Amino acid sequence: MSNYTKILVAVDLSDESSAVVRRATVIAANNGAQLHLIHVIEPLSFAYGGDIPMDFSGIQDEIQQQASSQLKRFGETHDISEDNQHIILGRPEVEVHGKAQELGADLIVIGSHGRHGLALLLGSTANGVLHGAQCDVLAVRVGD
Ligand code: AMP
Repeated sequence: MSNYTKILVAVDLSDESSAVVRRATVIAANNGAQLHLIHVIEPLSFAYGGDIPMDFSGIQDEIQQQASSQLKRFGETHDISEDNQHIILGRPEVEVHGKAQELGADLIVIGSHGRHGLALLLGSTANGVLHGAQCDVLAVRVGD
């Protein structure tokens, strides 16, 4: 069986993200694989769109700027170059699948749980990424 060549790590930038990326870094080193990071920003309109008649664009810009600088810092800390950092607006599971396909990733690494907490056996995003993925998916156990 061949080694992994391109690994995509999905991070929600919660406290658990470092443990997830550390695991992916070890796998990448052992396989001689490239490591990519993705963070997906969910537009406020997805959550509140029809319900609240309000213009979210200012807050949305602010959220995107903060997320970009957080991801940049996170990438620096874990020695992942900016070219390999991806920030996308959309639904996490959809965008993670899309980026994995675009890059030709052969492994997606996610946390078993993230911002949405430990209420479920496997977090809802983790579950969504697992379903329909075109490559291997590793859910790193976090939150114990
Ligand atoms: P959750 O299912 O939301 O508890 O999160 C589980 C894992 O899914 C996290 O540890 C991340 O690996 C991934 N994930 C969740 N939300 C995002 C996001 N917005 N962008 C990228 N990855 C995410």
